[in-house]
Amino acid sequence: MRVLVAGGAGFIGSHVCRTLIERGDSVVCLDNFITGRRANVEALLAHPAFELIEADVVEAPRVAADLVLHLASPASPVHYQQFPIETMQANSAGTHRLLAIAGESRARFVFASTSEVYGDPLEHPQRETYWGNVNPIGVRACYDESKRFGEALTVEYRRRHGVNASIVRIFNTYGPRMNINDGRVVPAFIAAALAGKPLPVFGDGMQTRSFCYVDDLVAALLLVAGDPSADGEVFNIGNPHEITMRELAQTIADCAGSHGALEMLPPAPDDPARRKPDISRMTARYGWTPRVGLRDGIARTVAYFADEAAARAAGVAS
Ligand code: NAD
Ligand code: UDP
Repeated sequence: MRVLVAGGAGFIGSHVCRTLIERGDSVVCLDNFITGRRANVEALLAHPAFELIEADVVEAPRVAADLVLHLASPASPVHYQQFPIETMQANSAGTHRLLAIAGESRARFVFASTSEVYGDPLEHPQRETYWGNVNPIGVRACYDESKRFGEALTVEYRRRHGVNASIVRIFNTYGPRMNINDGRVVPAFIAAALAGKPLPVFGDGMQTRSFCYVDDLVAALLLVAGDPSADGEVFNIGNPHEITMRELAQTIADCAGSHGALEMLPPAPDDPARRKPDISRMTARYGWTPRVGLRDGIARTVAYFADEAAARAAGVAS
C-alpha cells in the first residue's frame, strides 16, 4: 500500500511513518517542518520505500496513494497559539486539499482530530456522541474550532464526493520524539525533572488528563485507517487512565529520579478541567485497548529524553 502521511515529520507522524515502512508499505511523508523536525525521519530517508516532500499541506502536490493520513497541524497549545493562522489553514484549506488528493486517487482518508473538539467538557468521560463545549473566541479556538471545521469538511466532502473517510479524535498522547520544547506537559515536566528543577504546574494541578503512549495510539490509528468499512465513522483514541497534573508530576519525578518539587504557576486560560476518553467504540469494533501503562510509558519517554540530552551534551563537548 502507498500511504501519504501529511505531518509525517512530527511526533505522531514519524511513528506512523516508521510503522508503515516496517510492515512493508511505501510512504510519502509531506511536512513543512513548522513544528516537526527532519531528525524525526532521518533514519527513514535512505529507505527506498520512503519519500520526503517538504511542502505546506495547503499546497500539497498531487500524490498517487491508497491511503491519505492528515496529521499535519501544530498540536501543542504553545505551538498553535504561536501559529494560530497557520493552524487554522492546515485544518481547513489543508484538509480540503488532502481530501481532493484522496478523491483523485480513490484513496481512503483519515483526519486526525482531537479531544479538544469537546472543549471544557460537560460530559465525562467523553463519548463520540458528545458535541462539546468550546469557547469559539478563546486562545484555544484556533485549534479547537479548526479541528471541528476539519471534521465537518471531511464528512461533507465524503457525502458530496464519495471519498472513503474516517475521523479519529486523539486524546493526549506522549512518547519518544516529542519536541522537548513544545510546551506540552509531559516534555515540560521531564525537561524540568532531568535538569533538577521544580516541575512547572499551571493552576492548582488538580485538572485531569488521560495519557496514551504513542505505540498504542499508532496501533489504533492504523486499525481504523486499514478498515474501509469504517467509512463515515468517528473514533476516540486514547487511554482512559485519568490522572491529575499533580499525580503526573509525581510519576515523572519518580521515573527521572528527581526530588519532585513543584513550581505553582497561574492557570492557563480556557484550560479544560478534566478529560477522559470513552473508548468503548474502538474496543467493541477492533478489540483495541491500550497496552502500555503510564509508569512504563513515562519511563521509556524519560529514557529517550535523557539519551537526547546526553547526545546534545556530547555534541557540545566535541
Ligand atoms: P507535531 O507538532 O509533532 O506534528 C505535526 C506535524 O505536522 C509537524 O511535523 C509539522 O511540521 C507538520 N505540519 C503542521 N502544519 C503543516 C502544514 N501546514 N503543512 C505541512 N506540515 C505541517 O504534533 P503531533 O503531536 O505529532 O500531532 C499530530 C496530529 O495529531 C495533529 O494533527 C494533532 O492535531 C493531532 N493530535 C495530537 C495529539 C497529541 O496528544 N499528540 C492529540 C490530539 C490530536
Ligand atoms: N500543564 C502544566 N504545566 C506545563 C504544561 C501544561 O501544568 O508546563 C498543564 C496544562 O495546564 C493542562 C495539562 O497540563 O492542564 C495538559 O497540557 P498540555 O499542554 O500537555 O495539553 P492540553 O491537553 O492542554 O492540550
